[in-house]
Amino acid sequence: MNPLQDNNSGESEGSEPMEPSSNLHRAHVLVLPFPAQGHINPMLQFSKRLVSKGLKATLALTVHIAKSMHAGPSSSINLETISDGHDLGGLAEAESIQAYLTCFQTVGSRGLAELIRKLDRSGTPLDAVIYDGFLPWALDVAKQCDKLGVVFFTQTCAVNNIYYHVQRGLLPLPLSGSSVEVPGLPTLEPSETPSYICKLGTYPAFYDMVINQFMNVDEADYVLCDTFYELEKEVVEWMSANLWPLKTIGPTLPSLYLDKRLPDDTGYGINLFTPTTASTVSAWLSHHPPHSVVYVSFGSMADLEPSQFSELAHGLALAGHPFLWVVRSSEQHKLPRDLMDSIPSKEALVLPWCNQLEILASGSIGCFVTHCGLNSVIEAICLGVPMLAMPQWTDQGTNAKFVEDVWRVGVRARADEAGLVRREEVERRVREVVRGGKRGREMAESARAWMAAAKATISEGGSSDRNIDEFVEKLASRASVE
Ligand code: UDP
Repeated sequence: MNPLQDNNSGESEGSEPMEPSSNLHRAHVLVLPFPAQGHINPMLQFSKRLVSKGLKATLALTVHIAKSMHAGPSSSINLETISDGHDLGGLAEAESIQAYLTCFQTVGSRGLAELIRKLDRSGTPLDAVIYDGFLPWALDVAKQCDKLGVVFFTQTCAVNNIYYHVQRGLLPLPLSGSSVEVPGLPTLEPSETPSYICKLGTYPAFYDMVINQFMNVDEADYVLCDTFYELEKEVVEWMSANLWPLKTIGPTLPSLYLDKRLPDDTGYGINLFTPTTASTVSAWLSHHPPHSVVYVSFGSMADLEPSQFSELAHGLALAGHPFLWVVRSSEQHKLPRDLMDSIPSKEALVLPWCNQLEILASGSIGCFVTHCGLNSVIEAICLGVPMLAMPQWTDQGTNAKFVEDVWRVGVRARADEAGLVRREEVERRVREVVRGGKRGREMAESARAWMAAAKATISEGGSSDRNIDEFVEKLASRASVE
C-alpha cells in the first residue's frame, strides 16, 4: 500500500516534482520512526530532504498507524508497513507499555528483516536503515541484513547527552545534591533533567527505552540528530569531540516554513488525529489583531489532570487575551464546562486537532502555551513565536529550561508544591509574554534572531544543509561501489 504516493500519483498542476529529473536514485534508505506523531513528523521530513537530494526513501509505519492516519498529498516517499504486534490499536491496545515495547521488538524485528528482503528484490535494493533511536533493535536487524545502520535521534543533544551519561554509568542515579553537571550542558537543577531521571521509577518501561538508545550506538554507521548546530553548539561540539561524529540535520519543518526549496513540501502530510479545516481556523483568527492570540497545545500524548485543565482555563480567561486551545477529543471531558460556556466564541476556540504550523505562522499568535515537546518548541523557534512553557513529562522539562534560560524565547510557568500551575501564574505569565515589557521585548528579539538562524542552517550552505549533503554523498558513494 502507498497512500502518500497514491495521493499524488498524478502530479498536481503547476507543482514541481521533488525528485531530481534524472530519476536515477543514488541510494535507497528505509526510514523507521517510533509510531507517534512527534517522531513520524521529523523522520518523514528528513526523508523528503533526502529525496530532494537524489536518494530514494521508503518510510516504514506500523500497520495500526497506516490504517488510522490521515495522509495529505505528498510525493516521492514510498510507504510500507511493518507490524508492531498490535495492528488494531497500537500502544493503546497493549496490556502495558512494557508489553507493547517487548512485542514491537520481537514482531518488528521479523517484519523489518522481511521488508528489507522485499525491498532488495525490488528494482532499487536498500543501502541503509535510518532508525529512530527509540528502536535500537533495528540496528541489529540492519547489520544482520548487511545494511548500513543510521540512528536518528528525535530529542535534543542536551537530552541525549544526559541519557548517554546515565547509560554509561557516568551520571549515577538517583540524582543527589542540588545541581547536576553534565559536560557540554549548563548546570541543571535536578528537576530540569528529563522526568524519567528526576522522578526515577515513573514509567520504568519508557526509562529503559530512552536509556537503551545508547546501548549499541557505538556500532551505528552514522549518528543524526534532529536539532541544529547553532541551537546546541556547546553540547554538539562536546559530543562530536568525545562520543561520535554526530550530524545535526534540523530543523525538520516543511520547507515552505524554512528555505522554500522543496516546492511541494508545504505540510507534514501525516496526521494521527483529524485536523479542523484551515478555513474555520483562519476565519476565527482574522477577528484578532497580530500577535494578540494565545495558542495552547500539549501535543499528541500529554494527559493533564482535570484540575490542571481547570486552572489553565481560568488563567487564560483572566489573562484577557483571545485563546485557541487544542484539546484532543479524548481529553475534552476534562474542560470546566461552565467556564468555557461563559466565554464568547470570539474569545475562545477549542479544537480537537489543527494544523499547528499554519497557526504559528499566521502572525496572530502572541504566545504559545506549550508542553515543550521538541517539535513544538522547534516550530515556535522557527516561526518566531515566544512561548509559555508548561512541561509535563519526558524531555519537556529540559526543553523548557533551554527555552527560558539558554535560547531566551519564553518563560516557564512555575507549578506549586502539588505540581499544579495555578490560574494566577498562568494569568501573570501569559500577560508577560503577550504584553511585553522589557522581558517580552527581549523574548521577541531572541525569537526573531533564532528564526533567522533556523532558516539559514537548512538553506543552501547552512550547517544542517552541509551535513545532509555530506551524509547523502557518503551513502551514494558507498552504494555506487557495491
Ligand atoms: N501538532 C499538530 N496539530 C495539533 C497539535 C500538534 O499538527 O493540533 C503537531 C505539532 O506541529 C508537532 C507534533 O504534532 O509537530 C507534536 O510533537 P511534539 O514533539 O511537540 O509533542 P508530542 O506530541 O510528541 O508530545
